[in-house]
Amino acid sequence: MSKTKRINPRRPLVAGNWKMHRTASDTKVLIEDIVKRVDRVANIDLVVCPPFTSLAAAHETLGRHSILALGAQTMHSSKEGAFTGEISGPMLREFGVRYVILGHSERRQYDNETNEKVAAKAIAAISYHLRPIVCVGETLTQREAGETTAIIDTQIHTSLAGFPVDQIEELVVAYEPVWAIGTGKVATPTQANQVHRQIRKLLVKMFGDPGASIRIIYGGSVKPENAVDLMAEPDIDGALVGGASLDARAFFDIIEATRPARPNVND
Ligand code: PEP
Repeated sequence: MSKTKRINPRRPLVAGNWKMHRTASDTKVLIEDIVKRVDRVANIDLVVCPPFTSLAAAHETLGRHSILALGAQTMHSSKEGAFTGEISGPMLREFGVRYVILGHSERRQYDNETNEKVAAKAIAAISYHLRPIVCVGETLTQREAGETTAIIDTQIHTSLAGFPVDQIEELVVAYEPVWAIGTGKVATPTQANQVHRQIRKLLVKMFGDPGASIRIIYGGSVKPENAVDLMAEPDIDGALVGGASLDARAFFDIIEATRPARPNVND
């Protein structure tokens, strides 16, 4: 990712988060199935995030110039060191990884990935030429207590503290209400768009005008059946897809739902 290769502002992006699914050999099969379907898809950025152990197989199957970019599901902020079980940015780069999910709610819940750690990881990711997909989102209890706005405000401010403004176009923010992840309960398009609009305002406050061009994607039980309505919302720039990204047909249908709704602004 060189400085001269600019990303079109708010070009739609769909990323598949495979979580802890698919062995290396299963990965090859799924990647081939997805690539076959998305071969002619244009004007959209597509990312798949398999487990670490499947990155080599994914990289090899994709080849060098694939329409599908590779992402990781987390990384450590250090380059190397005594951090048992961890993976660093340079290690990911060796497998052609271009994106990294940070602060996913499952990592926040089970692995103590705090806002402060996310901020350090996002800065490290950018220094290793990885595009961070920084996740934020409220729990059901927080939503029902009317705390969504405050929670999102804190997560955005703290998780993106110190992020270099001259690299802002490489950043992706994912709004993932925790109550919608893997539950089948999707936010309504209006609910999601309200939070996306709030996030965009916060980003402009933090980073000035360039903040307006940061892509904000929605995640939480996105399926082919609900993708068209969600992606038609003006502040939703794409999707972070969990369960449905393990099914090549469903993933493709979500991509198709995203692409015509939000054509590349520069096309
Ligand atoms: C996710 O894990 O980021 C996610 C959105 O999962 P699902 O689509 O299964 O709700």
